[in-house]
Amino acid sequence: MLLLLRVRVRVRVAITTIILVLLLITSTASTTHATMPPRTPLSSLSSRRGGYSFFSQSINVPALSKLGRVFRDPSLVVPRYNVKRLKDLDFSVAKSMGGVTCVIFDKDNTLTKTYSDELHEEVVDQVQEAKRIFGPEAVAILSNSVGSSDDKGYAGAALCESHLGLAVIRHEVKKPGCLTEVQQHFARATARIVAANEILVVGDRLLTDVLFANLNGMQSVLVAPLCTRTDHPVAVIIRFLERRLLLPLVQTWLALWRR
Ligand SMILES: [Mg+2]
Repeated sequence: MLLLLRVRVRVRVAITTIILVLLLITSTASTTHATMPPRTPLSSLSSRRGGYSFFSQSINVPALSKLGRVFRDPSLVVPRYNVKRLKDLDFSVAKSMGGVTCVIFDKDNTLTKTYSDELHEEVVDQVQEAKRIFGPEAVAILSNSVGSSDDKGYAGAALCESHLGLAVIRHEVKKPGCLTEVQQHFARATARIVAANEILVVGDRLLTDVLFANLNGMQSVLVAPLCTRTDHPVAVIIRFLERRLLLPLVQTWLALWRR
């Protein structure tokens, strides 16, 4: 019994350590955005800003601050739904059976290629479907690039809104720590108080999108990235480790724990 307890604690420590390392590597990758060749107006905006400050903008402090909660409950990084493509998600079922009234989309690699401000052809119909079912005011983008503290003057957010036809939530606190700003956005947009469990969060990252949703009692959906060719190489590796190392490890741990 004591041995089993020790194993469980060690696996928790391993999971938390993996997350810590991934978050720190992600922060390092973020500082190199400005060195990427400009491909779109959005990437040009990043270049003109001259890069991100390592300590004030790139390290995801809200994510790091949640490590203690993930240590206590590793299931926080497990998505409620895991779909290959956005088109596999049935918004009408989410509304009728799941009680969803609002939808948040991550941007990069969920709706667009990274640093692009055009909807990927694969998701155009699904975005329209979400707006039709929930109403355009109840669908928004929440990104740790556009609309975040990295987006000076929210120029990227404004550009995205005009190109994508979706509101971009402004938030000084990055995912997974911006519940208040999200609820304030939907309160303004829908003219009512929206409970966290009415919100469906769709994204391609475990440690930002899924963790943000699960920490706050929202419904989380993990989708496969749209296109990794335009991604920063470190981001590709991080996502691979999240999906191929972290998620299987947590799922195995949960299966053993719940037995
Ligand atoms: Mg993303």
